[in-house]
Amino acid sequence: MFRLSAVRLSHFLPGAFLLLSGLAAAYVRDLSVFFTSLFNVLPTLVLLLGGAYCAVYRRQRELFLMITVYIAYYLLDTQTDFYRDHGRVREDAAVVFHLVCLLLPMLFALFGAWQERTHLFQDMVARFAVLLAVGSVALGLEQSYPQALLNWLAEIRWPALHGQWMSLIQMSYPVFFLAFVVLVVQYLREPRPLHAAQIIGLVGIFWMLPQTFILPFTLNIMCSQVMLMIAASVSHEAYQMAFRDELTGLPGRRALNERMQRLGRNYVLAMTDVDHFKKFNDTHGHDVGDQVLRLVASKLSKVTGGGRAYRYGGEEFCLVFAGKTLEECIPHLEAVREMIANYAIQLRNQESRPQDDQQGRQRRGTAGSGSVSVTVSVGVCERQPEHRTPDEVLKAADQALYAAKGAGRNCVMAHGQREKRGALRVA
Ligand code: GH3
Ligand code: MG
Ligand code: MG
Repeated sequence: MFRLSAVRLSHFLPGAFLLLSGLAAAYVRDLSVFFTSLFNVLPTLVLLLGGAYCAVYRRQRELFLMITVYIAYYLLDTQTDFYRDHGRVREDAAVVFHLVCLLLPMLFALFGAWQERTHLFQDMVARFAVLLAVGSVALGLEQSYPQALLNWLAEIRWPALHGQWMSLIQMSYPVFFLAFVVLVVQYLREPRPLHAAQIIGLVGIFWMLPQTFILPFTLNIMCSQVMLMIAASVSHEAYQMAFRDELTGLPGRRALNERMQRLGRNYVLAMTDVDHFKKFNDTHGHDVGDQVLRLVASKLSKVTGGGRAYRYGGEEFCLVFAGKTLEECIPHLEAVREMIANYAIQLRNQESRPQDDQQGRQRRGTAGSGSVSVTVSVGVCERQPEHRTPDEVLKAADQALYAAKGAGRNCVMAHGQREKRGALRVA
């Protein structure tokens, strides 16, 4: 149920950076005119920027998250402006503030967990309807029964649980708690930048609300930061889609092409290909094939010696060793090849085990145990006078890979090694 192996610190970093910078900015006491003017327009600018992102990437969920935060900002900003200008709060300040403390975490978690499943337009209408319904009920109650609503909101329902530290209405705490649980569970089930940003965003909101009337510009700053977290996660995910391979989680071909533009004078490229993978797929099925590709990718990503793994395409991977020589890389390539060959892969689906022994050529000695193994062949080439560009080096590594296949597979072959071997064999 939980995909803990896909949890990444990098999912949280942009949000954590924005949160910390927001906290730091909120505590600055004497802001220059430049910053006060900036903070006054920042939330609107961020909403426009984020809205444009969402339109380009067709993301409704993120758009409604931002709109929710912006509405809360707008409602509270009207109150803090009045407070700043008149030195006292407006008469509806308490009821508006308490309503925001209750509805903001609720709607934030709702829109955060509400996946886009239906047609985009229907989805938008549904989200808008929810926002409109909640907004109109809240406004209607606030206009018609302000005092009764205030009493209901501010009532201490559980005196035993009430603490002096509670600066929001009591009901707001279980709502925040539930919202956190929903968002954390969502992240653990599907670890991705947006889900991480939502958790950090909720932390930001939770910190912001009690400070609204205490620290000047807290509201403007933190609402902007939370909307920026969502916008940043949209671009983070777009980046991942373009540069990461979805199946294996490794950087993909585009990322490799980009990396190849920035290689210095010395580097080594290794092409790796899974042996007899077509047969493996035919025997065990495509799903098991995918499972094996993921495993091979995870082993390759752990290659030592400063190598970095990329999925080149299909069952082919490229390892890049920047600033290294061939002699330095070979032991690390041998080590990773051996690690893959010696790894017994437990098949999750027992039915997909080979039907007969001839089919299961790649099965390990423990036939019938439900474990299989695969091997990889590696062709490697370093930059040298006759292969000056990364493309030429990669091509030479590919030729070496071909030679490795010819030499019986499950081996590492350097470019130029084939002739020597051939000569040895002839002799
Ligand atoms: P060789 O040892 O010569 O490399 O033999 P091979 O069977 O591995 O070579 P070939 O390139 O003919 O086969 C590659 C196979 O990899 C074809 C395809 O079924 C499989 N393949 C490519 N991409 C994927 C993938 O994303 N998932 C799965 N399950 N299989 C893939
Ligand atoms: Mg291949
Ligand atoms: Mg292959």
